[in-house]
Amino acid sequence: MVHAQGVRKHYGKLEVLKGVDLTVERGQVCCLLGPSGSGKSTFLRCINHLEKIDGGRLAVDGDLVGHRQAGDRLYELREAEVAARRRDIGMVFQRFNLFPHLTALQNVMEAPVRVARVNVAEARVEAGRLLDRVGLADRADHYPAQLSGGQQQRVAIARALAMKPKLMLFDEPTSALDPELVGDVLDVMRDLAADGMTMVVVTHETGFAREVGDTAVFMDEGVVVESGTPRQVLVAPTHERTKAFLGKVL
Ligand code: ATP
Ligand code: MG
Repeated sequence: MVHAQGVRKHYGKLEVLKGVDLTVERGQVCCLLGPSGSGKSTFLRCINHLEKIDGGRLAVDGDLVGHRQAGDRLYELREAEVAARRRDIGMVFQRFNLFPHLTALQNVMEAPVRVARVNVAEARVEAGRLLDRVGLADRADHYPAQLSGGQQQRVAIARALAMKPKLMLFDEPTSALDPELVGDVLDVMRDLAADGMTMVVVTHETGFAREVGDTAVFMDEGVVVESGTPRQVLVAPTHERTKAFLGKVL
């Protein structure tokens, strides 16, 4: 589902991704770990067309990110084409960025109605179903300010799912939450994984990575240092940098 080969990205003189190689197969959960500034968020943003890559090859579900291939020629995607591709990818950020003036239900309905032109009654039923799935059926009419951080984050997940994405990206979805709220959000992600969703999860929750991850990837200074099963990478890492990092987060 995600194929990255030698992906490079720089901001001015700062090279942030220095040749990232990473593969996530359909239906798999890839947990991405690494120190602050190692390029994890930048890499997710590249997958989601929020950044352009400067080198290498990055494909999602067989389509090159940023380009359309016709024969052996590459064409840069037009804005509408980028928007269409982005609809297939759901993203959840560290800070739950819900629309504050909309209820939980309205937040979840927003994109299907406005972007995908789903009829309102149908979107409402589906949004209710999704809120139920994340354990918030009884909070549908609450505004974000009336919800806990963990509840807001679960609404954000429901909102991303409303567009029926084929890939979900999570960027430290629980790191801004009070510890007692983390479990509910991880439970929702665990269910999603069990349901077969392809997921790339930036997280320092090594317990979650070990239990739910099919693969774990350790990134440092813009490259993948080590990847494999969560057991290999998190329990028996071979690289010094991975060991040093895990020594700090565990
Ligand atoms: P963290 O764990 O702190 O979230 P990260 O691994 O997600 O870190 P990135 O956010 O990808 O790291 O940032 C990698 C590097 O790129 C950092 O040095 C950051 O300052 C830099 N960077 C990120 N976005 C930009 C930008 N838009 N312009 C300039 N530099 C940027
Ligand atoms: Mg980040």
